[in-house]
Amino acid sequence: MTVTEARADVTTTARRQPDMLVAIIGGGIGGLGAAIQLRRNGYTAFTIFERADDIGGTWHTNRYPDVAVDIPGIVYQFSFEKNPSWSRTFPKGSEVQSYIAHLADKYRLREHLRLRTEVMRREWDEDNHYWILTLSDGTTVTARFVITALGAFVEPRVPDIPGLEDFSGRVIQTQAWDDDADLTGKRVAVIGTGATAVQVVPQLARTAAQLDVYQRRAIWVFAKPDFAIPRPVQVAFKYLPFLQSAIRGVVAGFVELGLVGITVYGKQIAPLAKIPEWGCRAYLFTQVRDRELRRRLTPDYGFGCKRPSVSNVYYRTFTEENVSLITEAIECITPTGIRTRDGRHREIDTLVLATGFEMSNSPIVYQRRPVKGRNGFDLAAFYETQRAAAYEGVSMPGLPNTFMIFGPYSWSGSSWHVMVENASRHALRVIDEALRRGATAVEISTAANDRFHQFVSKRGSETLMHGAACVGSNSYYLDRNGDFSFLRPTTAYQSTRASKTFDLDDYIYEK
Ligand SMILES: Cc1cc2nc3c(=O)[nH]c(=O)nc-3n(C[C@H](O)[C@H](O)[C@H](O)COP(=O)(O)OP(=O)(O)OC[C@H]3O[C@@H](n4cnc5c(N)ncnc54)[C@H](O)[C@@H]3O)c2cc1C
Repeated sequence: MTVTEARADVTTTARRQPDMLVAIIGGGIGGLGAAIQLRRNGYTAFTIFERADDIGGTWHTNRYPDVAVDIPGIVYQFSFEKNPSWSRTFPKGSEVQSYIAHLADKYRLREHLRLRTEVMRREWDEDNHYWILTLSDGTTVTARFVITALGAFVEPRVPDIPGLEDFSGRVIQTQAWDDDADLTGKRVAVIGTGATAVQVVPQLARTAAQLDVYQRRAIWVFAKPDFAIPRPVQVAFKYLPFLQSAIRGVVAGFVELGLVGITVYGKQIAPLAKIPEWGCRAYLFTQVRDRELRRRLTPDYGFGCKRPSVSNVYYRTFTEENVSLITEAIECITPTGIRTRDGRHREIDTLVLATGFEMSNSPIVYQRRPVKGRNGFDLAAFYETQRAAAYEGVSMPGLPNTFMIFGPYSWSGSSWHVMVENASRHALRVIDEALRRGATAVEISTAANDRFHQFVSKRGSETLMHGAACVGSNSYYLDRNGDFSFLRPTTAYQSTRASKTFDLDDYIYEK
């Protein structure tokens, strides 16, 4: 037990002691990032609960063909743990997974892991000022603080298409790829044309006899500057770390400009915001000569309204003889294929669902695994009936001693790791302060929460998302209330600064 934890012990003698100081839920980049921050600051009384059989989250579960990052690897890593040995500019999923394993080993996180353990229910105990977690094996544990790192994309979303359950062939959800699935010579249909489809479709097209891609909305795709990083560069990164830091800064600036700048400041820089769109159109022109096919592959919403993607082969794949782009709406799935609204039926052997996820702000997630906070606060009901809000994207009134790595308005849209570092820093500052004050419960004040919400709502309403360009984009950036709560409408720099400087007195500390 560390000195700090001992201090917590002394101050809590009137209440029952929890089993652990901190429970982290989720063993992906978010949960491990939070755990590293705890360890680096001397905390050891924490456990990471992960429902899967290994760490990695997204990168453990998403093993579909050609899964890879869609921002450069030099940015997609922690600032304090830069990997000098990325083999490519856009590493494949397996390489990201190796980086994650390295984090767990280097920071000795494995001893804190409880794999194959899902947290089924969280309930605040007001008498003892701790959380009671009900686990998938039926047991309960108690924790003073909870850090949730469930990710943004919590559950695969099964599309609500009539007849799906009657399909007699094989159905593969991209998030649960069957490594043994050999689709060579098969008639395959892919439903969905988001970032996952951009990666998986070209791979399937190589071997499938016939590939039908069902598109509801097209996606903006640009060429991917993906190449092997020469060994001498890797050696230079290893022995001159400042070199990688400098290049990382420049690349992060471009990512920030392309993904965040356009989305958040798109209205203010309207003429500039058109440049990436023109770039994608020009790129599509170089890939597809058929004017009609180009028209159907061109989104009818502006660049930045949805997450764009990068690929050197996606557009071109649709010019292959065995590949069809189908834009008619699906009427139903039959035992042997898919019928579209124009009455046409296409026979298939295998159906691939690239239809996205239940997001972390979906009430369904918390109806399945309830979270019961203070004074009757219920997280599922909150997301069902209220506008999503969280102070600095990290904490909510009604959920004392709880910090979210990815909450409403938390991701600035640049690298995920920046958000994880910022949210972890935020959580740690509050935990430190609570222990320093001898407090056993700490909750964000409603006033501070409302103030932050007004700030992000106002900013959000001024972004591209609420402009004419995004009408009909059906973007997951917008939540069920039409709020732009997926992203924090600020730069990553502002978000980092805020995590270091927010007023600790915005929280209410209780003994
Ligand atoms: C296919 C894909 C590609 C992506 N590529 C990029 C990219 O290139 N660039 C980028 O910036 N972002 C990308 N993202 C977004 C984001 O960076 C990744 O999803 C990232 O890995 C998220 O890390 P995380 O730890 O926050 O969440 P996750 O990786 O989703 O991990 C959450 C973990 O929590 C566990 N969990 C959830 N609920 C419970 C529970 N009740 N009990 C116990 N465990 C639970 C899950 O099993 C999971 O392991 C991508 C996302 C996906 C899905």
